[in-house]
Amino acid sequence: MSEDPKLSMSIDIENLTKTYDNFAALDDVSLSIKSGEFLSLLGSSGSGKTTLLMALAGFVRPDAGSIRFGGREMIFEPPHKRDVGMMFQSYALFPHMNVFQNVAYPLKLRGYSRADIRQRVEQALATVELDHLIERGITEMSGGQRQRIALARAIVFEPKILLMDEPLSALDKRLRETMQLELRRLHERLGMTVVYVTHDQREALTMSDRIAVMSKGRIRQVDTPINLYERPSNRFVAEFVGESSCLPVTLQDGQVQFQGRPLRASSATAGLKNPSLVVRPEKLQFVTADASDCNLLHGHVTDVIFQGESQLVQIDLGEGMAVAIRRPTRSSASDRLPTRGEAVVLGLHLQDTLVVGDEQ
Ligand code: ADP
Ligand code: MG
Repeated sequence: MSEDPKLSMSIDIENLTKTYDNFAALDDVSLSIKSGEFLSLLGSSGSGKTTLLMALAGFVRPDAGSIRFGGREMIFEPPHKRDVGMMFQSYALFPHMNVFQNVAYPLKLRGYSRADIRQRVEQALATVELDHLIERGITEMSGGQRQRIALARAIVFEPKILLMDEPLSALDKRLRETMQLELRRLHERLGMTVVYVTHDQREALTMSDRIAVMSKGRIRQVDTPINLYERPSNRFVAEFVGESSCLPVTLQDGQVQFQGRPLRASSATAGLKNPSLVVRPEKLQFVTADASDCNLLHGHVTDVIFQGESQLVQIDLGEGMAVAIRRPTRSSASDRLPTRGEAVVLGLHLQDTLVVGDEQ
C-alpha cells in the first residue's frame, strides 16, 4: 500500500445518507479509507454500492453527510473538480473513436497539450499492455481489451483516487481472474487509492486491502479479508462471506449451549441477539467421540459431493440443522470418507468456535 500523497489521497465519509422517495439507498454510512488503500465495497445487488461510489464521484448528491478527500470537503464540488478516475462494468468507450482518442479524452477535457496527450496516452496504454493497438478501432477489440482501454482511460490523468464499479463482471471467469491479479499489480505499482465495487466475495477477498460489507444501504463490517472471513462480527457477514452454516445456540449464565450440550466458544458472547454458531466446512474434522480438544457435533451423513480438488460431506445434525465438512480429495486409503447414512462425530477446534449475533 502506498501512502505517498503525490500518488494517492485519503477518503473520509461521515454519516452519508441518500434517500429516494422513502427508501434509504445510503443509511448513515461512515467509512475512512487510507491513502493508497485498495478498499472494496461488497454487497448483493441493491445494497447501495453504486450509490456510494457515485456520491464519491459527485454524480449523486447525498441528503446529508460529509465526504473529504485528503481532508478537503467535496460534497459541493462538481465531478470534474474531484479528479477521480472511474471505470464501470459497461466500458462506456466511445465506439466512433479509436483507442488513442478514447484514452486521450479525459486529457483533452483537462486542456493538456497535444504532445503531452500523446506521451501520456502511450504511457497509459503501455501500462495495460495495449500500446501496440493505439490506432485501432474500438469495435475491433475483445471484451478484455476494451476493459483494459477503459482502465487506461481511467488512469491516464494520474488520479489520486480510482473508483471502479464491477469493472470485470462482464468478462468470463478466466479472464476475470487474470484481470483481478492485473488490477492488483497495477494498484501496487501506481499506488492510488482504489474504491472497488463488487458483489463477488471471492473477488473482494482476492483483491482488497480491506473490504466494507454493505447491505440495505449500511456498512455491516469493515475489515481485512482474513479478519472478515475468520472473525465476522455478525451473522449477516458470516453468511455473506465464504461458505458457512449458522446454527442457533442458547446462552445461559454466560454458557453457550448447542443442542442441550455446552459449547466452548472463542469469542465473547455476552448480550448477543439471536446467537448462532458459525461453522465453515474446512474448519470441521471427523473425530472420535472421546476427542477432548474440540467441540463435538453429532450427526449423520446425508450426502458426499465430489467437487474435484475437494469433497463436501453433508451432515444432518437433527432438529432441522445441517453442516457441511470439506475434505481434500486424496487417494490415501487411510483417509476414507464416510458414506451416506453413517453416524459421525465432527470436531470444531476451540479457536474456530465462533458465536455471533444478529446485528443490533
Ligand atoms: P448496488 O450498486 O449495490 O446494486 P445501488 O446503489 O445501485 O445498489 O442501489 C441501491 C438502492 O437504491 C436500490 O434499491 C436502487 O433501486 C435504489 N436506487 C438507486 N438509484 C436510484 C434512483 N436514481 N432512483 C430511485 N432509486 C434508486
Ligand atoms: Mg451497482
